[in-house]
This record gives sequence, C-alpha cells and structure tokens, in this order.
Amino acid sequence: MSPGPVEEDYPRTLAELEARFSSEEACRDYLRRLRWSGGFRCPRCRGERGWPTGRGWVMECASCHRQTSITAGTVFQDTHKPLVLWFRAMWWMTNQKPGASALGIQRAMGLGSYQTAWAWLHKLRRAMVRPGRDQLSGQVEVDEAFVGGIEPGGGRRHVGNKALVAIAAEVRGSGVGRIRMKRVRDSSASSLQPFIKSAVAPGNTVITDGLVSYVGLDSNGYRHDRRIILGSGLTADVVLPGVHRVASLLKRWLLGTHQGAVSREHLDYYLDEFTFRFNRRNSGSRGKLFYRLIQQAVLADPVPYAKLRAETGRGPQPVVGT
Ligand SMILES: [Zn+2]
Repeated sequence: MSPGPVEEDYPRTLAELEARFSSEEACRDYLRRLRWSGGFRCPRCRGERGWPTGRGWVMECASCHRQTSITAGTVFQDTHKPLVLWFRAMWWMTNQKPGASALGIQRAMGLGSYQTAWAWLHKLRRAMVRPGRDQLSGQVEVDEAFVGGIEPGGGRRHVGNKALVAIAAEVRGSGVGRIRMKRVRDSSASSLQPFIKSAVAPGNTVITDGLVSYVGLDSNGYRHDRRIILGSGLTADVVLPGVHRVASLLKRWLLGTHQGAVSREHLDYYLDEFTFRFNRRNSGSRGKLFYRLIQQAVLADPVPYAKLRAETGRGPQPVVGT
C-alpha cells in the first residue's frame, strides 16, 4: 500500500506509470482502492465487510457471500485485455493535447484490432463525464453556438449541417472557470432552461443575451443578468466574452482533431471530452488527469460493444472481445 490518501496517489510521469503498473496485480489493487475508496460496499446487501478471494479479482461479501468482480459495473467489465494495457491507454489518452483518435490509440498501444481501439476510446470518453458532478456557480455566462460539419448519423459528411450547442461558462476575473455544454434541439425555452437547471446551481447569477427563451430564469431561483445586445452597439463576444471564447475553442478543436466531421450522436461525447479537458486544463500534473479519468472509469457504467454501435450508428463490425 502506498502512503498518503489515494487522492494524491498517481504516477507523475510515463516512467513512473510503467514502473508502478507493470503487473495485473498492481493495476487491480489500484482499481480496488479507487472503487471502494470509502471502504468495500456489497452491491447486493450494501454490507460493508468483505475480502478478496482467490487471486484477488473478486471481493466476497462477509454478510451475503456475494462475489463481486473488481471490474464488474465499471468501464473495464468483461474485458479480455490486460489492465496494464488499459492503464497505458488511459495515460496515452489524457496526454494527447488535442484529443485522441481510434487509429492513434491502436498504434500507440500496438493493438491488433482497430475495433478494440475504437471501443476503448468510446468507453473512456463516456467515463469523462463525472457522475453527479458539481454544478457551476458564481457568475455564469450562457449562450448557444452552432457547431458545423455534423453528419446526420453515420452517413456521408454533409458540410454545413450544423448542431446547436448550449454552453455555460463561469466568469473568473477576465477569464473562464469551469464549463458545461450540451447539444440542444433548438433555442427554445424548453431546450435551454432545462440545460441551465442542470448546469448551474440555483441562487447564482446567469448572464445571457436578450433571447426571449431565457426570460423567467429569475422565477426559477436564479439571478438573471439579461444583456440586450440589439441596439446596444456591442457585439456578443464583448457582452458574453467567456462563453464566446469557449465556443471558438470548441470549434477549432473539432476542426483540428476530427476534421470537423462528427456524427450527431457522437457529438455529445466529444463535448464531454472537450469539457473534461477544458475543466482540467490547469491541472499541474498530467498524472492528475489520468487519475481523474481512471477514478471516473470505475464509477461509470459499462457499455457493451453492441450498445456503443447502436448508439453511434457506426463503428467497425465486431470481431473479437474488447
Ligand atoms: Zn452482501
């Protein structure tokens, strides 16, 4: 066992990662500590006492004797590949500045199958949303932006086909704090107000332009700073500078990493990946990013390959297990 709280316990460099997580046992122990950081909890009877059985893959509940695999109910469930490789993949993914591609992960990990690389990337991308994550607070700018080059769902690329994304960005001095974003159907109140409710904690200030869809926020528990742009002589990027900076960074990132061609279904996960990276852009250590990803990977629900394909409407044909 390493000294100190698990919170501070992660590799700082690739060399440290390789030295420390060179065996399945070491990876497993780390996953076990992250998954049950508050102590073991039986998924059947909620019992708090248990012990590792056999070779350590499985914990047995002291009360009901149910056996729970360390990877069951996580992103790593039913994997046929070594955890050592998964750990490398997570390190690699969090260290790609612009974001990761399936081909990149396949090459870097030496994976024989593109399908496996593709599935890993999408499973890990899903883990980038923190379950029960905190809402934004303080002063929060909210606006919508069109993101272009969106494919209508797995078909050919349709240039000019755009998706609407709602963006919320905390104001931090002259900069931006944390962000949240979500694809929305349109700019109606019924699309935008639920986004604000989930993204911003009540009692805080929401800054918007004059769009009528935002009217009524103050009766929903927010202080609403409504800035009418029309006729003010000001432009939106002056009135809502933070959220506009985020929108242009997002567009540039999609264009650079994904050549701007993204399926509508995948866009949600790209938004999550962008948000994950953006909100941790000042993390002192790359290792911390890796730690966050792995921590969320043991909390995230497993996504079977068939579901990934069904949800995204694409992806290579399954050949072997992932
Ligand atoms: Zn139990």
